[in-house]
Amino acid sequence: MAGTSVDSIVIGLGVMGAASAAHLARRGQRVLGFDAYPRGHTQGSSHGRSRIIREAYFEAPEYVPLVQRAYKLWRELEEASAQTLLTTTGGLCTGSPESSAVSGALQSAELHGLPHELLSAAEVTARFPGFSLAEDMVGVLEPRAGVLHANRCVAALLDIATQHGADLHHDEPVIRWSANGQGVRVETAAGSYLADRLVVTAGPWASELLAELTLPLQVQRVVNAHLESRRPERFAAARFPVFIMQVAEGHYYGMPFMPGQGVKIGRHDNIQPCTPQTIRRDIDPAEIETLRGVLDRYLPGAAGPVMSSFTCMYTSTPDRHFILDRHPEHPQVVYGCGFSGHGFKFAPVIGEVLSDLAVEGATSNDVAFLSAARLALSARG
Ligand SMILES: Cc1cc2nc3c(=O)[nH]c(=O)nc-3n(C[C@H](O)[C@H](O)[C@H](O)COP(=O)(O)OP(=O)(O)OC[C@H]3O[C@@H](n4cnc5c(N)ncnc54)[C@H](O)[C@@H]3O)c2cc1C
Repeated sequence: MAGTSVDSIVIGLGVMGAASAAHLARRGQRVLGFDAYPRGHTQGSSHGRSRIIREAYFEAPEYVPLVQRAYKLWRELEEASAQTLLTTTGGLCTGSPESSAVSGALQSAELHGLPHELLSAAEVTARFPGFSLAEDMVGVLEPRAGVLHANRCVAALLDIATQHGADLHHDEPVIRWSANGQGVRVETAAGSYLADRLVVTAGPWASELLAELTLPLQVQRVVNAHLESRRPERFAAARFPVFIMQVAEGHYYGMPFMPGQGVKIGRHDNIQPCTPQTIRRDIDPAEIETLRGVLDRYLPGAAGPVMSSFTCMYTSTPDRHFILDRHPEHPQVVYGCGFSGHGFKFAPVIGEVLSDLAVEGATSNDVAFLSAARLALSARG
């Protein structure tokens, strides 16, 4: 295999690399992709059965056009792969009126003219009897939010990539890459590969593969639990929204009851720094009890026996916004990382952006706010 030469190589085939490989292959590039682990592995950030997608983006209104593009691309992928990838449930962001979950969602909805309703705690319960919010809480309800069937999404992106000719090498870790004239050389234990351009989407391993950029990334351990519901009819996805709760206990997110998956809950702000090598994979009963306690408080009846739980990693930037950029010294190398625990929903548009940047050197999607330069600026000032 030594010296195999293609148009583009993608390092890391989580959801972002899978989407990048799919976009590159669909535009006629000869693509090679590498992942360190077997297909379907659970070592990174993209595994699991579900992820939230929402449009009234509380993190910043600049994400709204990107998520709208992602919705379109997810629907196209559904059609191309003849399966359901996105189930619309509506979404509720709750907290105090001043919380970022509420005020940020309102700001995005108003700025972009998105359909939404601002509900008092009593109105939330009238609409969704499963919620029992504190009196001073409010909720922003948006109709287009829903659940992405995560494992299926990643598999569909990988399949589309291979259907368009991409050669994806799972379980073949990249040992190193280097710029080679105008192109790149990528080395694994099995061989050395040449390409005109390189896309690095290595999730929590980004700091290792892009060490020279000294990106300010912090990897964090996250625990999610799926619980049987004691009242499945009340919390069923057909009548209960995905939810974000910024409450005294912390910042939580969750999914309504789905058969075989129960109700899902995770905590967004429980910073537990780790590395891919040091992450603790076992889960304390106390961690599950904390998650259950939040459900018992705000969604009484939702939480029954534990069905499953898992750990996953966030790779966060200081401002919790993504990094999408070109390598400053090697313009033929582009990268996406620092998805800060909220990237999955954007994967198809991230794949489009990275393939635009790799092939054309520019993209029509507005991602200037996600450049690496802003981090250097904020670190200085
Ligand atoms: C518990 C949890 C819940 C989340 N919930 C949501 C949500 O509801 N909505 C949402 O939008 N987002 C959510 N996110 C965030 C989202 O899942 C991530 O932003 C996204 O999955 C990041 O994907 P990635 O491809 O960058 O990383 P990864 O999936 O980690 O992919 C990186 C890949 O690179 C590979 N790799 C590493 N080193 C090498 C090497 N040397 N050679 C070859 N391959 C290599 C790894 O094996 C891995 O497969 C959640 C994340 C977690 C952890």
